Amino acid sequence: MEGAPMRSCGECSACCRLPEIAEIGKPASTPCKHLCPIGHGCKIYEGRPSTCSNYECAWLLGHGANADRPDRSGVLIELRQMRRGDGLFAKSYSGEGVNGDHGRAAIDRATKSASMACIVSDKNDMEIIRIDGPRQVVRRFRKVYGV
Ligand code: SF4
Ligand code: SF4
Repeated sequence: MEGAPMRSCGECSACCRLPEIAEIGKPASTPCKHLCPIGHGCKIYEGRPSTCSNYECAWLLGHGANADRPDRSGVLIELRQMRRGDGLFAKSYSGEGVNGDHGRAAIDRATKSASMACIVSDKNDMEIIRIDGPRQVVRRFRKVYGV
């Protein structure tokens, strides 16, 4: 993203805990068995699967405020190819997650900086609890998803 701030994951390990990673048999919402017990490093960093090495959450790509890193906001937001156009997808990571004040504000800031709608889910990918974002995009997404 042009002009995006340079960001690094630091102590965050949300994407090693939340998403399913088929190559290593990691189920969704379960910490990866390769996570270091102390700290947040990867025990197989050099040989980690491409899903891991290629992964960039919306925050790492520059969306939202610096303070919205997933381990701080409680929300992991990803850019995804949705049924009609690209969109954001947000899921709770910790604390009150997508329903907490910081989580809601992080989603709001990400939708604004990405100019995209965001599907907000709390349990699994198919359960849409709300769609946030610019009004026109949200309207289109609601139509596509029938919610
Ligand atoms: S969720 Fe984002 S910030 Fe956190 S470790 Fe993964 S890519 Fe980095
Ligand atoms: S293999 Fe490493 S980078 Fe991938 S999810 Fe597990 S701990 Fe994270």
